[in-house]
Amino acid sequence: MMIVMKQGATTAQVANVTARIEQMGCQAHLSRGEERTIIGIIGNGRPIDQEKLVQMDGVERAVPILKPFKRASREFHPQDTLVSVNGVVIGGPKLVVMAGPCAVESVEQMLEAAQAVKEAGGTILRGGAFKPRTSPYSFQGLGVEGLRILGQVRSEVGLPVVTEVMDPELVPLVSTYADILQIGARNMQNFALLHAVGEAQRPVLLKRGMMSTIEELLMAAEYILSHGNDRVILCERGIRTFETYTRNTIDINAVPSLKQLTHLPVIVDPSHGTGKWELVEPVSRAAIAAGADGLIIEVHPHPEEALSDGAQSLRPERFAALMEHLRPIAAAVGREL
Ligand code: PEP
Ligand code: MN
Repeated sequence: MMIVMKQGATTAQVANVTARIEQMGCQAHLSRGEERTIIGIIGNGRPIDQEKLVQMDGVERAVPILKPFKRASREFHPQDTLVSVNGVVIGGPKLVVMAGPCAVESVEQMLEAAQAVKEAGGTILRGGAFKPRTSPYSFQGLGVEGLRILGQVRSEVGLPVVTEVMDPELVPLVSTYADILQIGARNMQNFALLHAVGEAQRPVLLKRGMMSTIEELLMAAEYILSHGNDRVILCERGIRTFETYTRNTIDINAVPSLKQLTHLPVIVDPSHGTGKWELVEPVSRAAIAAGADGLIIEVHPHPEEALSDGAQSLRPERFAALMEHLRPIAAAVGREL
């Protein structure tokens, strides 16, 4: 339930309502808009005495929230959440492009990729040190050595880094090298991991599970938010459908749907979404046109030699061309790149 305060309600009135909610054993979540304040109630499973709250001074009305996600919902928090990472703002008018190889393979590979990403206008560097591979015989990532490489390249090139964490116990270690913690599609409902990143002092990039609904994605975000971390970025990365021509099917519907349902920034991963480098540019254009706040794209200096996902990785020059081709589309939807 949400309590909508009257226009011009005083700070003391808001504080009284908040205190009453807490006395009821619930949590109050304050959202101060330009016109009025909304107090979201996060219940404790027991019925809430709505009448008592509605009669308090300064209260306009109580509105039930039927959706199971609360902190993630736009009803609770009407304004867009902006996630800042070392000066890069995700969710504002400027689109954010995160790019880099699927996996960290060597210092040289990461340096070459990072320089290309930066020159083309990418603002966050991606690269997996811990790789969730379908086969135990595939390259599993360089692990801690990969993190060290990310740390070195981050300071040499000056781009913030996003990298995946797969183990709750490794969240503190990965946080020392990563500016954004990535939760991969396969771990979207790993609740111990969501709990751990919810307590981390780093923004989280939460990727949609390949067989998860939009609501399940938002409930996964709710876990992170409810453990105290409100810097969550959502990522549509394609879902499984009957279509096998592409690796996954980008659910373009998810972009405007999420923008309606939640205040959290939404980005799209056209690389894992398609599995084919030739499709990365057209699908990126579609994502931006649909209202995404940014993209995460695989770029490798030599895709034919990549240890993972070479077929969907862009060469640096193709990434640079893609960035140029996205600019007019960004402008057409009132965004900058
Ligand atoms: C990745 O981005 O490195 C990755 C493994 O993607 P996903 O979790 O979406 O499959
Ligand atoms: Mn990959």
